[in-house]
Amino acid sequence: MELISVLLEENTRRVIRRAIAAGSLRAAVVPVASTEQHNEHLAMSHDTRAVLWLARKAAEGVYPKAIVTPAIHIGISEHWMDHPGTLTLAPETFTQVVYEVCDSLRRHGIGRIMIVNGHGGNRRPLQAKLTEFRERLGVRLDFCSYWEAYSPETVKQMLVSGECPGHGAEFETSVALAAFPDAVHFTGEQYPEGEVRICAPARAADDRRFFAAAQQASAGKGRAMLEMAAEWLARRLRWLIEE
Ligand SMILES: [Zn+2]
Repeated sequence: MELISVLLEENTRRVIRRAIAAGSLRAAVVPVASTEQHNEHLAMSHDTRAVLWLARKAAEGVYPKAIVTPAIHIGISEHWMDHPGTLTLAPETFTQVVYEVCDSLRRHGIGRIMIVNGHGGNRRPLQAKLTEFRERLGVRLDFCSYWEAYSPETVKQMLVSGECPGHGAEFETSVALAAFPDAVHFTGEQYPEGEVRICAPARAADDRRFFAAAQQASAGKGRAMLEMAAEWLARRLRWLIEE
């Protein structure tokens, strides 16, 4: 059964109903991300756009067996609330939303679900809930963060900073330059000393380091690393569908 698109929201109920009934549509990818500061130059949508871009590629790789739900684009970002614009959910709220999205899919007969994460702060709280979610849902539930695609050797080889994912630094800026360059807003200004107030000293130091590392970003690196992550995710999704 053909789909109109691998994005769930672009399909009609007729297409989804028939694809599930025919047994061709067997899995869903649930992208989870954030709306939060990404240093001085990257749009707040970064994690959401990156993970959605990859989820879409992965689903296209197994077409027409998987559908991608809308990204959950507000995550657990309390640690970035020093920066105006960041939105955050409490861990229990966020994980409950993820659960209910998965449960909606289950109720429609989709028994294989891959949650793909694009924001570091979501990782541990979701990981901690996985066993419980699997028991309650009774579906095959996979969870990963897309940067798990990279070995330490790859990171060392690809990135001058050697840091992945970092935050709004070389890696994420490269990804944006490759996939959605409209989200990158370099102005040539220096780091805004005195204007940015970050309560935790370690985070303040990281922020300066990430600001500097972002200057090493390039679209070429971003393309190569996106390609690797897309292949890795498609393999993982294929395995979830076919096992
Ligand atoms: Zn990010």
